[in-house]
Amino acid sequence: LNHQIASQPTTIFTVMSALAAQHGAINLGQGFPDTEGPAHLTETAAAALHDGRNQYAPLTGLPELREAVARSNARFYGLDVDPATEVVVTSGATEALAVSLAALLNPGDEVVVIEPAYDTYLPVIRLLGAIPKLVRLTPPEWSVPRDALAAAFGPKTKAILLNSPMNPTGKVFTSEELGFVAGLLQQHDAYAICDEVYEHLTFGVPHVPLMTLPGMRDRCLRIGSAGKSFSLTGWKVGYVTAPARLAAVVAKAHQNLVFATAPNLQRAVAVGLDQDTAYFTTLAQDMTLRRDILAAGLREIGFGVLPCDGTYFLTADIRTLGSVVRNGEDDQAWCRRMTAEAGVALIPVSAFYDPSGGEAPGYLVRFAFCKQPLVLEQALTRFRDRV
Ligand code: PMP
Ligand code: GLN
Repeated sequence: LNHQIASQPTTIFTVMSALAAQHGAINLGQGFPDTEGPAHLTETAAAALHDGRNQYAPLTGLPELREAVARSNARFYGLDVDPATEVVVTSGATEALAVSLAALLNPGDEVVVIEPAYDTYLPVIRLLGAIPKLVRLTPPEWSVPRDALAAAFGPKTKAILLNSPMNPTGKVFTSEELGFVAGLLQQHDAYAICDEVYEHLTFGVPHVPLMTLPGMRDRCLRIGSAGKSFSLTGWKVGYVTAPARLAAVVAKAHQNLVFATAPNLQRAVAVGLDQDTAYFTTLAQDMTLRRDILAAGLREIGFGVLPCDGTYFLTADIRTLGSVVRNGEDDQAWCRRMTAEAGVALIPVSAFYDPSGGEAPGYLVRFAFCKQPLVLEQALTRFRDRV
């Protein structure tokens, strides 16, 4: 057996969703919307099934989707992207991350990873024989420790993995922070894998792709996901935008792992990307409303709510709840107990930290607010009754 894979725990999202089902809890754990994406997109996908879109798609994606990805890069970020050579369609951002890492890394290469980190990053880096160099953001502001970040770069650094807007923190990196990262990449001649799946989910702050900064166009692999942009997380359609030289190698990794992504879904995602800007604005506004309902309710109950400028997620400090947290109880134990006792499932933020970096903060929990306002209110009521 492969030790790296066999020794991995089951993902916290699966664990908490199963626990939620077992206890009939409201699931604010795993991040998926509880309403369907736009009906015209599901109808487009269904129609494509009846329209002969059932054989292998081209390896790098349907031309219509690659063209839509290029247009979206131009519309939102002013990026000039060649759809023929600079876009690779993948089966979700999860695959996009894996094939981008596979394209860049040789055994022994170092990758700077910012913690708290999304759960697939480290296992894939390690599977490739590369070495993660972990840098922890500092709560409650999730500020970037610049000295530590600079110190994580060295002669063996091949890349940084940067997630903005960031899961689980809800942090959106500012242009200034990105500028600091850009300086390090230039200094160390390194690349960036930019996980931007929440690019359209920011709340009153702009999302700036690192790729748009001076000198960064040729160093970045920018990853998006239809799951997040169209509230269709089950579709697993992602896309990588990268300079042709890198995209060609990403395509080779994709060729071996997946080869091609479901064509009917690709066709619908192309339509989704071409929707007018009002669709994307409304999506962010709807999510802002949900964040506000949850944040206000949690504050009133006594949670220490951390800032959140984007994503589906809000983090909160449970230490301010006093005796609601038992002596010696960490975030993991508390989340499990609350699923059973309050009937609300959450994600412990310590699940996004690697043990090799020392003890993780054990007092932060993540709420997914990509749910109907009524469901958020019900979850808040359950907490109010319990605490
Ligand atoms: N990156 C981040 C930060 C995510 O939160 C997720 C999933 N929500 C993914 C990647 C994976 O996206 P996909 O479902 O498109 O594979
Ligand atoms: N990205 C989702 C989250 O953070 C979960 C995706 C998954 O379950 N793999 O909640």
